[in-house]
Amino acid sequence: MLQVIEHGDVRELRLSTWKSRLAGYGVSAFVARHTLIDAGFPDAAPELAAYVDAHPVDGAVLTHGHEDHSGGVAALLARGVGVHCAAETEAEMRRVERVGMYRRLTWGSRVRLTLPLHVFSPSPALQLKPTPGHSADHHIVWDAERGTVFGGDLFIGVKLRLAHHDEQMRPQVVALREVASWQPERFFDAHRGLLPDPVGQLRAKADWIEETIGRIETLVGRGWPDARIRDEVLGAEDPTGTWSFGAYSKANFVRNVRETMPQAS
Ligand SMILES: [Zn+2]
Repeated sequence: MLQVIEHGDVRELRLSTWKSRLAGYGVSAFVARHTLIDAGFPDAAPELAAYVDAHPVDGAVLTHGHEDHSGGVAALLARGVGVHCAAETEAEMRRVERVGMYRRLTWGSRVRLTLPLHVFSPSPALQLKPTPGHSADHHIVWDAERGTVFGGDLFIGVKLRLAHHDEQMRPQVVALREVASWQPERFFDAHRGLLPDPVGQLRAKADWIEETIGRIETLVGRGWPDARIRDEVLGAEDPTGTWSFGAYSKANFVRNVRETMPQAS
């Protein structure tokens, strides 16, 4: 299903399938300045391609290589649509990676990029800015002239207790505060759409992660095991944490904080 939501100069393409909805997920791509921002997930690629056939764009920009943001890239390239992304994101799309069953069921099988990217230079008004944490290659797209952020997966929610196995919690605080300091008027989140009060919400998320890191560090210092810290600070494991076999879980949040703690000398 592709649902179009108009936001003046920005058009949101809300993509989902019955499988993704069953898992409780959908994801949005956006069109701004004749440019597609992100490319949906593998199972939605035919619908996204049909949309682009009917409503041509100059090219596409990607926030990161996760399959729910880059799943339509092969279909775009097959149509001659150029793709612009960070070198890390291109490397991520070319990497052989077996993603967990829960992600394949939700989004469809990740298609590894083998074709060369047709290089596309987006309007200089759309700037790709590194915001690592959610993934090492994560970027947001900043349109300073219009005070608009296309945030990819930088936000998702204030108190997001689940983390991917390779997610880094501390850099997210830095990235959230930096984007908030630009005072964006609009923030389009790939999963939540247009955020009300973006500066307040970005700061609230940075504060919450920072405070949660502090609580976890205190309990690590007392020698508590990870599972007990998780239960105490984040609550019992989420069903997603269980059915993803820990790949997207609260346990990852705690483990990442413990593994990146400054060593006491
Ligand atoms: Zn992501």
